[in-house]
Amino acid sequence: MIGDNLRKVEENISAACDKSGRAREDVTLIAVSKTKPVEMLREAYDLGCRDFGENKVQELIEKYDRMPGDVRWHMIGHLQRNKVKYIVDKVYMIHSVDSLRLAEEISKEAVKKNVTVSVLVEVNVAGEESKFGTTAEETVSLVENIAKLPNIVVKGLMTIAPYVEDSEENRLYFAKLKQIYVDIIHKNIDNICMEELSMGMTGDYEVAIEEGATCIRVGTGIFGERQYTAV
Ligand SMILES: *Cc1c(COP(=O)(O)O)cnc(C)c1O
Repeated sequence: MIGDNLRKVEENISAACDKSGRAREDVTLIAVSKTKPVEMLREAYDLGCRDFGENKVQELIEKYDRMPGDVRWHMIGHLQRNKVKYIVDKVYMIHSVDSLRLAEEISKEAVKKNVTVSVLVEVNVAGEESKFGTTAEETVSLVENIAKLPNIVVKGLMTIAPYVEDSEENRLYFAKLKQIYVDIIHKNIDNICMEELSMGMTGDYEVAIEEGATCIRVGTGIFGERQYTAV
């Protein structure tokens, strides 16, 4: 099943790249494996996936220990400051930095462990009340402030677009995130290398690619529906 799903997703990525004149290599497919067993991650790994996304610290650490060392782990979920220390030396990138306090904690722990952590600033472009993320207006100043901290590098921006029936409805939000990204590049801030736009999920990754996504985060489209067991 995962093989067929991955082939389908790959076809769609290629089509979206062709449509928008982009190169396939410019888009990283992150397999969002939250709630899924390690056996399924191994299957995806054997089919070529190296980028995996998780949204819980505990789950990421457990899977980290059981998966090959060349996996690039992406922390895509809301991160509590007291848990930063468990993952700073394990993650390839943290997509969900939405406050200076969180960035300060990441910086502090990164200094202790003598690593440099790549992060994305999460922007709530649609201004949804239920979502984490900085406001569009605050993004530039947050990026500027994070840039002053040691051992943390802002690599770009991330957004979780609203859940919609028609993915076209999210096009404006993806375009807006891209615009903020371009504005920041033009400011030439030291210690920032804006190169990643993490946007697009199973329902809307093709539109996101057309609007410039460099990372798409696909869970259901690869691993199937998630079952959440009530605790
Ligand atoms: C779960 C999740 C995804 C993947 O969602 P799908 O709709 O299953 O592709 C992407 N990004 C974030 C931040 C998530 O939490």
